[in-house]
Amino acid sequence: MKSSLIQCDWILPVVGAPIADAVVVVQGKRIAWLGERVALPDRYAAQPLRKINGVMLPGLVNAHTHLQYSGFHELGATQYQNFEHWCEDFEARYDAVSDPEYWAESSAAGAWQALRSGTTVFSDIITHDEARGAFARHGCAGIEFLEVIAALSQAWVDSERAAFLDRLSQQSTTVTGISPHAPYSVDPDVISDLVRIADEQGLRLHSHLAESSEEEAFYQRGAKAVLEIYGSLRDQFALVRSGGVSKNAAQFADSVGLLNKSTHVAHGIYLDKAQRDLLKDAGTRVALCPRSNATIGLAQAPVAAYLNEGHDISVGTDSLASAASLDLMEDVALLYSIAREQGYAGTDLAKRLLEAATAGGARALGLFEQGYGAIAEGGPADVAVFDLAATEETLESTIVEKAAGRCVLTMVAGEVVHDGAA
Ligand SMILES: [Zn+2]
Repeated sequence: MKSSLIQCDWILPVVGAPIADAVVVVQGKRIAWLGERVALPDRYAAQPLRKINGVMLPGLVNAHTHLQYSGFHELGATQYQNFEHWCEDFEARYDAVSDPEYWAESSAAGAWQALRSGTTVFSDIITHDEARGAFARHGCAGIEFLEVIAALSQAWVDSERAAFLDRLSQQSTTVTGISPHAPYSVDPDVISDLVRIADEQGLRLHSHLAESSEEEAFYQRGAKAVLEIYGSLRDQFALVRSGGVSKNAAQFADSVGLLNKSTHVAHGIYLDKAQRDLLKDAGTRVALCPRSNATIGLAQAPVAAYLNEGHDISVGTDSLASAASLDLMEDVALLYSIAREQGYAGTDLAKRLLEAATAGGARALGLFEQGYGAIAEGGPADVAVFDLAATEETLESTIVEKAAGRCVLTMVAGEVVHDGAA
């Protein structure tokens, strides 16, 4: 079996202590050995060793993105005032796409950009099935969550349910999941049905939750500001017709079955302690997307609270329609400064955020048991090397603050897919 050896100044396995002057031995698609160079077993000693200056991490896990919107990058470079303001521009850009093949090209471009910055595992929302297969083409693991959006009960029963089951049954090279877009954009009966379908088929769920400050008023009173872009359709939503159900965002998500161990949600900005507890008690994880939130003009998520309360957080870039790049380490750096501003004083902050960008993301996708989000013997050979110099004392904080833009090598399933190392 083909094997290759890579030596780095540091390897951060995430599931174990950092290793200095370390080597990984890759055989086929797996890590065969990992440790200090001086401890390299004799059986590998005669093999060529490639030395790369820098720090090796597990391939990063982007826990929330929409690769198909990578072509909308001019939106991600704009500053918006709020969610509804951003929605207007997004909708105009979206409506201008007439060729379905656009989604395939846009998605492929995004996957490539993410790979070059060290991401090897994806949680990708698929609105148009033409976008499928973009990361799998490079051998990456992850889940493609087929999205349901603007779904009303009657239309769902009449025809959309059958069409969605047909989408789910399509052959794919990638693991499939289900994404009810958000608890406000899909009628409650439809979400409950999607949760049931996911349960029956053993699929994971992913949704946007508490991203807009207008969401809560919709669940409480049926206030339709959050549905502004749906035009005349918005009056037909069940909660608009009933005048709301007097629940906050987490209570509502829970009432339709969305809060469970198989679901992870994106954003989780406008959630108070009681709502965060509801998520945690249900085993629902949150993917924080700080740069997207900043672009759209939203509040900062309660990052310090999530950490202090023991949430198993993960990190997402969201799409290029709301972030300037798909470099997950940019979001990690921003989470670090937000957590400090919010008063998180723990010396473990950098370590916890690196875990969030790797193992935490893998757990959110149910892929940690397969070895993703970590570097370990027998696990998948998914790694990323960053051109950084650090001492043992500053290792984690240096990675968090400086790794963005410095990925020099990405390996996916034992294959080097990006190589900019000297
Ligand atoms: Zn999103």
